[in-house]
Amino acid sequence: MNAVVKLPAIDGQDTPDDTPADMQAALKDALFHPMGSPGVYARTWLYEDVVERLGAFVTEQRETGTEILRFPPVMSRRDLERHGYLKSFPNLLGCVCALHGTDAEITAAADRHEKGGEWTAALSPSDLVLSPAACYPVYPIVAARGRLPRGGSLFDVACDCFRHEPSPHLDRLQSFRMREYVCVGTPDDVNNFRGRWVVRAQDMAAALALPCRVDHASDPFFGRVGQVKAVSQLQQALKFELLVPLHSVDKPTACMSFNCHRDHFGTTWGIEDAEGQVAHTGCVAFGMDRLAVALFWTHGLDTARWPASARAALGL
Ligand code: AMP
Ligand code: ZN
Repeated sequence: MNAVVKLPAIDGQDTPDDTPADMQAALKDALFHPMGSPGVYARTWLYEDVVERLGAFVTEQRETGTEILRFPPVMSRRDLERHGYLKSFPNLLGCVCALHGTDAEITAAADRHEKGGEWTAALSPSDLVLSPAACYPVYPIVAARGRLPRGGSLFDVACDCFRHEPSPHLDRLQSFRMREYVCVGTPDDVNNFRGRWVVRAQDMAAALALPCRVDHASDPFFGRVGQVKAVSQLQQALKFELLVPLHSVDKPTACMSFNCHRDHFGTTWGIEDAEGQVAHTGCVAFGMDRLAVALFWTHGLDTARWPASARAALGL
């Protein structure tokens, strides 16, 4: 694909919406229960059953020789700082805070709440952040193993992710599930990996009967410097997204992304390929909640009436 600079899809935020509000409300009622914060929901079985089936469908596509790792929803704050996350997405990060100090200090803070006061002023950051993407914890693990085998290494990773982007929209959650396949190897290993997945992912969307297109994309880098980074990312074709029209055809929703990090993580963690060169990395990310919402949005709430190919792909 050629590098064409154009405005990235903005996932249906602040754009004209072709889907009637009452239909979106009906989806929300059937799929989720509110939990007191926008984009944080309890999930009904109707919804969760589809998420589980989607997970199995993604597993069926896994390439041989892929190592499976599952991560908790938190990761080391120091590791994320070292990745440079604060330079790119400080606005999205959630940090775990706790009451540190002596028993007396902790009791005093808790008592302030009991007396109707504010206890959170006594919080201080712990050594954990909420993971904003599933692949971040894999790189230090790979680095600790020494040089990569020839042909590189493939991983299947997943975790619950947090991004501080509260929204009333069903396709923009603060807490959501991400599954990723990750490649660590030479630039060729990573380019081939990403090329294979761009094709395979469109076959998967076709099986699920989701209308889609794959397009160049950029990450939502923070601030004015961020805009420069986004243009550079587009120009270098480092990110593609699989886009499904939910709110409107003009502003479709990214349900999968195909990312090339070049030598960023290899340099950060000192990962070497089989020849001793700095490793390159890439990942394909499946937004499991986005995909499930997209299925219900596109095919309706009655899974018995979904297209035959989608029912077959999901074993429904
Ligand atoms: P990204 O790392 O931004 O490319 O995200 C990978 C995938 O996670 C996206 O393609 C979406 O499917 C999903 N995703 C990202 N942000 C959100 C969100 N706020 N709510 C739900 N899914 C998301
Ligand atoms: Zn990733």
